Amino acid sequence: MSTSTTPTRDQQRILDWVDEHRDDVIALTQALVRIPSENKPPHGAEKECQRFIADTLREIGCRVDEFRPDSVPGITEHPAWWPGRDYTDRPNVVGVLGDFQPHQTRPLGRKSLLFSGHADVTPAVGDGQYGWWDGTIADGKLYGRGSCDMKGGLAAAIAAVRCLKELKLELNGDVLVESVVDEEFGGANGTLAGRLRGYNTDAAVVPEPNNMVISRAHRGGLQFRIRTSVQSIGMGFGEAVLPDPVTALAHILVGLERLNRDYNARPRPAAYEGDTFPIMPLLFHAGEVLPWGSGDAIPDSAVCDVWFEIPEGVTEAGLKGDIHGLIHRLAKEEPTVQRVQWEMEDQTRFLPGSSIPADSPILKVLDASLTLAGWPKPVHANAPFACDVFMFNLHSPTPCALLGPRGGNAHTRDEWVEVEDLITLTKTFALATLAWLK
Ligand SMILES: [Zn+2]
Repeated sequence: MSTSTTPTRDQQRILDWVDEHRDDVIALTQALVRIPSENKPPHGAEKECQRFIADTLREIGCRVDEFRPDSVPGITEHPAWWPGRDYTDRPNVVGVLGDFQPHQTRPLGRKSLLFSGHADVTPAVGDGQYGWWDGTIADGKLYGRGSCDMKGGLAAAIAAVRCLKELKLELNGDVLVESVVDEEFGGANGTLAGRLRGYNTDAAVVPEPNNMVISRAHRGGLQFRIRTSVQSIGMGFGEAVLPDPVTALAHILVGLERLNRDYNARPRPAAYEGDTFPIMPLLFHAGEVLPWGSGDAIPDSAVCDVWFEIPEGVTEAGLKGDIHGLIHRLAKEEPTVQRVQWEMEDQTRFLPGSSIPADSPILKVLDASLTLAGWPKPVHANAPFACDVFMFNLHSPTPCALLGPRGGNAHTRDEWVEVEDLITLTKTFALATLAWLK
């Protein structure tokens, strides 16, 4: 798809501006990382980070809208609303450069582009080599919670808008930056709120950290908990068979691994070719580690948490039906499973995968812009994670692509983002906006 061309005068001005302001791009990412904004369902501490983003967008010259997700009319009745979250002090922020008005018909030919990121981060647990909220730079990597997921991408989008504004480039349309709350842990209500609030642009880009790949599709997933239990446990003083929730749960976990293999062997939409969908057991717990002699009995329950990823097309009913069917079948065939009770409980909402057509114009614009920004031969592949992009593709008229930085250790210690990618992305987003708003 990519072609190498000589930059036009305006394109060159963008490239030069970003090179001259690279320290600002990095400093903005550090500033965002240094404001903790942990999502701890049902609450979240995004307020301070969101206020900083709102102020930054205002300073750039954007019109800024701040609103609670649950204040948007009709949202709690929407089928994609996920109940149970508390949105006190958790405002969404939208910055508009141009005269875009939500819910208003656009003048013919006037275009719009939205960059959307989430301000919340997963909680800091344990200690790494680098401080969670320091934004330390070492060996070309910027460390800290949220650096790659996804304050780096958000900073690049904000910096791109500042670049366009300062260069006073003529744009036939509007560019918007949205910072939503509550994306982690299957949230995504903040993203739905932006759509229902009326920020429905001609296209959107979400800079989740997909390793500088242009993605027209992303995975879906579900996190669930399975608990096996029994009423009473003996010590094995002569009972014929001991009910054993631990081994029963182990059978179920092995069954889930087989189910995941089956899923991977099924045909999947073209946008997911070559991908492998993981199953991740996040927890397997039974009993307690006690000093020798403190107790010897089979635990009366066992718990596992599992994250199961899927391509677009797998439905909530389909996935849950398969998991229930698997356990019922095991309970018939496997006496160990038969002797225990089991229950399954959602931990996240069901997150569907979603995609946009391969010929969506925004993909071509991103490809050409990334090339111009100095990234030769952009790769196109699905984003290998579940995220909130389905809210655009399934619940709004706006087609949404993904393009974000390289990074690592998302959701764990020493999360990092590649510094150079922040610069390349800022260039790419400014160039893409210039091209889109022609
Ligand atoms: Zn993310």
